[in-house]
Amino acid sequence: MRPSEPSPLPDAARELLRRLPSVDRLAGDLLNENGLAVSSQEVVAVARAVIAERRSELMAGDCNEVDLQMRARERLASRLRRVLNASGVIVHTNLGRAPLADASAEAVAAAARGYMNLELDLASGRRWQRDAHVSELLCELTGAEDALVVNNGAGALLLAAALAGRDRSIAVSRGQLVEIGGGFRIPDVVAQVGAKLMEVGTTNRTTAADYQAALAGGAELILRVHPSNFRTVGFVSEASIEELCALGVPVIDDVGSGVLARGIGVVESEPPVERSIQAGAALVCFSGDKLLGAPQAGILVGQSAAIEACRNHPLMRALRVGRLPLAGLVATLRLYRDPERAQKEIPVLAMLTTDPAVLQQRVERLREVAGGEIVEEIARVGGGALPLVELEGPVVALDRRYDPGRLAARLRLGDPALLPRVAHDQVLIDPRTLLDEEIELAADALRRALSEEADAASA
Ligand SMILES: *Cc1c(COP(=O)(O)O)cnc(C)c1O
Repeated sequence: MRPSEPSPLPDAARELLRRLPSVDRLAGDLLNENGLAVSSQEVVAVARAVIAERRSELMAGDCNEVDLQMRARERLASRLRRVLNASGVIVHTNLGRAPLADASAEAVAAAARGYMNLELDLASGRRWQRDAHVSELLCELTGAEDALVVNNGAGALLLAAALAGRDRSIAVSRGQLVEIGGGFRIPDVVAQVGAKLMEVGTTNRTTAADYQAALAGGAELILRVHPSNFRTVGFVSEASIEELCALGVPVIDDVGSGVLARGIGVVESEPPVERSIQAGAALVCFSGDKLLGAPQAGILVGQSAAIEACRNHPLMRALRVGRLPLAGLVATLRLYRDPERAQKEIPVLAMLTTDPAVLQQRVERLREVAGGEIVEEIARVGGGALPLVELEGPVVALDRRYDPGRLAARLRLGDPALLPRVAHDQVLIDPRTLLDEEIELAADALRRALSEEADAASA
């Protein structure tokens, strides 16, 4: 048979095509069910989509058994739903990273409903900068001359690298030619903006003199990248930000997480933004939604001329931040004016330092419902930050008679979903990453999943 000739449709597929229900019929069946909180128009739209999808599958010869009603019900349920994070990973990238402080969530909701003075100076009635609301606050908190916000940390770094300009050389330590995640690699970013990468030093040791040699060889700029998600140990050393800034060319410092909090022991090993500013970095980049605890955003703080050049760069428009994350970021940053309040109210900071007595209360409550035993375990910061930090605390280890994969899946498929940690062939429920008001929701989710599991086992 020549490859261009369409293969004839199998009889089974033709028969199934003939038996496909009409849109009205499928929609009618769905509407007869109770508990669908959607309009009949929505049901008809979904029924139409599901039947069209099935028709193309059958035309392609796929004769597998399919429950169209089930498919339609799944489509009608919102796919983006709340997840109770019982994994113990605080900045969980797959769960949207940082949960917001109440003040931040309220600011987002308020900004969402109506209009706002996003690019309008209310006093003069004239247009102004979208980031004016936030740059003042960032300068106040970091000591920088000027600041700018973009869509995410990767965008901030891209913009900073783009500023270096085409065909100019950027010096980067060989120990910092890292992959941040999702294929975002420093050498590729530098290549992408048309700059030339000048590798400096070695994987484990790079000195100020190595950079100096690169500058003598034509490098016009230094990029320092914090190894957020890994650590090198042993015979290692790197030049300090102060040494780099003393070399006389602009320094771009990507600090990753952007720690503004003070006095929290576990985050003290992260590079403080303020220190890089004081050292004289031209641009410091960091994420809004890692240890800062705000919505997704990329932040650039630094010297006026460098920030202004970023602001006027053609990429800026492509990277600009939306009004909802901006409103949430401003509200989060305001909390940092009062460090004690920040630590209490910003969930990622609160979770790093949760009172052991509170964790104990929570595990006892969860064990009451779910059984199992209480054991000491290790929670992680996550989100590519502080990879070595171990946060000790109690967790509920569910009974070993449950198949961990199946029980975890049952918990994930609940509404709200619950994401546990699976370790040592056991399902662990870590209360550190649950919010106070989520403990009872988690208890309900556990109760439901365990009773379903018991039903399945006795069936
Ligand atoms: C996380 C990270 C980024 C990227 O930030 P996103 O907000 O994830 O886009 C860039 N550089 C470093 C060093 C990071 O740790």
